[in-house]
Amino acid sequence: SREVHLVRRPHGEPVQDDFSLVETTVGAPEPGRVLIRNEWLSVDPYMRGRMNDVKSYVPPFQLGAPMEGGAVGTVVESADESIPVGATVLHMAGWREYASIPAKHAQIVDTEIAPAQAYLGVLGTTGLTAYAGLVEVAPVKEGDVVFVSGAAGAVGSVAGQIARKLGASKVIGSAGGPEKAKKLTDEYGFDAAIDYRLGNLEAQLKAAAPEGVDVYFDNVGGDHLRAAIARSNVGGRIALCGAISQYNATTPVPGPDNLAQAIGKRLTLKGFIVMDHMHLAPTWVPQAARWLADGELRAEETVVDGVDHAVDAFLGLLRGANTGKMLIRL
Ligand code: NDP
Repeated sequence: SREVHLVRRPHGEPVQDDFSLVETTVGAPEPGRVLIRNEWLSVDPYMRGRMNDVKSYVPPFQLGAPMEGGAVGTVVESADESIPVGATVLHMAGWREYASIPAKHAQIVDTEIAPAQAYLGVLGTTGLTAYAGLVEVAPVKEGDVVFVSGAAGAVGSVAGQIARKLGASKVIGSAGGPEKAKKLTDEYGFDAAIDYRLGNLEAQLKAAAPEGVDVYFDNVGGDHLRAAIARSNVGGRIALCGAISQYNATTPVPGPDNLAQAIGKRLTLKGFIVMDHMHLAPTWVPQAARWLADGELRAEETVVDGVDHAVDAFLGLLRGANTGKMLIRL
């Protein structure tokens, strides 16, 4: 079995030499454990943070050890009666072809309602992040104008569609480049799209939402957050979900210079981690599966083949090579 190790902590943007593909042997599982043949691996922006040696809400990856991450696969050997051979399971021992883990760390998923890899994307924490952000963190009310950054990505593309379902009167998305911007309006149902690479974000946002913004779902931070604060209406809500524009930063990043506007505008800016909203999963998963089946929810995937290309997929994710969920197929 091949697995990807972190061998050096990246400085700034990660490079191939920070990682190594290592061949290992996996034996039969000990009592209480299962052996899984991974079929899909997730790469996610938060993994960049785990490559640094700093304490966060998840511990850093260890050097010289396989990295972790969401994965789905088939149980090929089981030494625990709770999980039969042949079951499709979701777990966190990704970045490797075969995973031997305690059965209690594997969750059987229902592949009748959706394909297995959907549990790494729209039916997994990705989709739940979008849902939690707009239902509990920065709740969307009927008639709101909603702005989503990183809108062509996994979380953002789902967030835009959820905002519409929650009754937003207008949904604006931003993404990098003209093709992605076009996709937002043509395929994901956004009312207006901003190509942030053209610059002048605040002017573009003003043109798209002259009436102002009520809810901002922030995946990017930096200039996007600044522009959203500038364009927020009184009582506006901002869900601080991610700040991908600064994950590779090597020096501290200053906050938005217009934060004081939050006072007069009575804004709520709230950071959140999807893990604190898992109670929404029993509502979100069947709902999203129904919408997917009915064609009411579009969940795109960008697929890279082979564990030997897992690092390429991750590096590509940080540079915007994906639309929708970035996945590795084994
Ligand atoms: P995405 O599918 O959105 O992939 C990352 C995207 O980020 C790229 O496709 C790229 O799109 C965009 N990007 C990269 N660099 C920049 C930049 N400098 N400025 C603007 N955009 C940039 O990943 P996810 O959907 O998995 O994650 C989206 C965000 O949500 C991330 O910030 C992530 O950390 C966060 N997140 C937070 C969670 C939580 O619990 N709080 C849970 C899950 C995700 P483009 O081509 O448009 O630039």
